[in-house]
Amino acid sequence: MINNWHTLESLQPRVMRLLTNSIQKQRLAHAYLFEGKKGTGKRDIGLLFAKSYFCEDPIHVNPCNKCRNCKRIDSGNHPDVHIIEPDGLSIKKSQIHDLQAEFSKSGVESNKKLYMIIHADKMTVNAANSLLKFLEEPNASTIAILVTEQYHKILNTILSRCQLVQFQPLPPEAIQNQLEAAGVSKHIAAIVANMTNDSEEALEMAKDDWFASARTKMIKLYEVIVSRKGQAPIYVHTEWMNHFSDKEKQQTGLDLLLYIYKDILSVQLGNKEQVIFNDMVQQLTQHALQMTQRSVTDKMTSILEAKNRLHANVNPQLLMEQLVLTLQEG
Ligand SMILES: [Zn+2]
Repeated sequence: MINNWHTLESLQPRVMRLLTNSIQKQRLAHAYLFEGKKGTGKRDIGLLFAKSYFCEDPIHVNPCNKCRNCKRIDSGNHPDVHIIEPDGLSIKKSQIHDLQAEFSKSGVESNKKLYMIIHADKMTVNAANSLLKFLEEPNASTIAILVTEQYHKILNTILSRCQLVQFQPLPPEAIQNQLEAAGVSKHIAAIVANMTNDSEEALEMAKDDWFASARTKMIKLYEVIVSRKGQAPIYVHTEWMNHFSDKEKQQTGLDLLLYIYKDILSVQLGNKEQVIFNDMVQQLTQHALQMTQRSVTDKMTSILEAKNRLHANVNPQLLMEQLVLTLQEG
């Protein structure tokens, strides 16, 4: 849960500035459209905004997080804050009607009201048209927050009535911190954070046993390539193919392999702090001394080519065998 605007400084600086400015200057829009990828904090920031709007004892732009209003928003029980989500696959006209009926009464405790529509792109045409009428006759103290990952699916007539708030993909460091805070080990967090900028997907990946074994298998493959050259194709045959059993998994395997060479390059360029396989720094530093930068970038190119060829209809085992032979040269 996000309780304070300042914690968004590094995650969503533009969103933070836009919304805190409108709170500070008391120039709130009637409707906002929060647009951005999954896991970028749209819903949490919507709730933070609601708290700033309703808080009885705000500290500058921040909600106090202690008063009755803040607490009820946190627990999802505020009578004047409504959240609408898809009922099944879509948001139906009846859901918007219920909201309108609710909002036509005066506020339970004040005139302020706020509603959020999560996955607003999933409104049926009828629901969207009902909402449109609602947006066309805004009440001075009612705020709408529409939330979507698919901005292009929102009707233009609705877009034109909303202030657009664009959420940026999270930087890897932010994802890594979130994962570590959720109890994920540092060496898994660092890799996962580089593989996706969706924090929910990252957490899923980090907690997946398959991923942890994939990492172990990849490190083993790397060690075989480096120090037991003759055995690399055998390792691919006996160990690798079982674990990386479909194209998506094979792509992940190649990504992991790519990161290890990227790490060697980071060491060579004097950027040890950027190393993703942070528990292998010592070993990688040693290898970095034994290879030229040119050779490392050539290996990275070979892995990227293999990734591309995997999309085409190439036999994955053959592809991996050829790749390890290329990687163990030079
Ligand atoms: Zn409060």
